[in-house]
Amino acid sequence: MTRTILLTNDDGIEAPGLEALCRRLRADTPHRVVVVAPDTERSGSGHSITLGQGLEVKEHAFEDDAVTAWAVRGTPADCVKVAFRQLLENPPDLVISGINRGANLGTDVFCSGTVSAAVEAAILGSPALAVSLKEYEHPDFELAARVAVYLTLLVLDKGLPRGTLLNVNVPAGTPETVRGFALARLGGACWLNEVERRLEPCGRVTYWLTSRPDGIVDEPGTDHAAVASGLISITPIHIDLTHHHALGELDGWELERAWRSLVGDGRR
Ligand code: MN
Repeated sequence: MTRTILLTNDDGIEAPGLEALCRRLRADTPHRVVVVAPDTERSGSGHSITLGQGLEVKEHAFEDDAVTAWAVRGTPADCVKVAFRQLLENPPDLVISGINRGANLGTDVFCSGTVSAAVEAAILGSPALAVSLKEYEHPDFELAARVAVYLTLLVLDKGLPRGTLLNVNVPAGTPETVRGFALARLGGACWLNEVERRLEPCGRVTYWLTSRPDGIVDEPGTDHAAVASGLISITPIHIDLTHHHALGELDGWELERAWRSLVGDGRR
C-alpha cells in the first residue's frame, strides 16, 4: 500500500541531507514523498513558531519532479503545522525530519529544530522520526539515509505509541565502521553548553553561545555514549513532558492546606 511521507528539516529545503533522504525513499520504497521545509536554514530554532505575520509558502522545484515540495518562510514547527492543516489533503502516515547536518543528542533536543518538527508531528497525531548525522564538516548522508529508510519501513509496519517520535543519531562512518543500533535514553547537554565573553573590535562586549564537546558526560545508556561508541542511537521521545514520579512527591507538599492558609478560611 502506498503511504504518504512528509519530509521536513531545519537545515533548509536545499540541504543535502534532505535531498539524500528523499532520493533514498524514492528509490527504495513505493511511498509518496511530500517535502515542506523552511526556505532557509533554521538550525537551533527549537519549537519556535511564527505569530503576528503570515507565512509565505512557495512551490519548490525539486530535482525529482515526482516529489511535491513547498518552501515555507518559517520555522520547522511552522512547516509541519502548515503541511498538516493546509497543504496535505490528509495527515501523513509518517513525518521524517532531517537528515540533519550535526548530531541532536541529550538535552540539545530542546533547541533542535530537527527534533521539534518531529515533536510537532507527534502532537498533531502522526508517527515521526528525527534523523541526524554526527558529522558537520564533511557529512556523507548515504548510510544515514539507508538507516532512515529502514526505520521508515519498520515504523510504517509496526507503528509507534501515540504522541511518540524516534530521535535517531547516526555516527559518521561506513557500514564497515558503524556497529549497529542502540536503544538509548537522552543524555546531557552537548552543543552550545558554554557562554564565552568576547571583546568586539569596536570595544563592545558580547556573549557567544559556544560548545565545549569535552564537557559531554558519556554516561552508559545515553545517546551520547551510544554514538561515541559507533552505534546508531534510537531514543523514543514522548510529547508528555510530565515528570510522573515528581507528581507523587509534590503531593506531599499539602498544597490544599497551603492554599487555605494563603487565602484564609473566611473566603466565600
Ligand atoms: Mn540543522
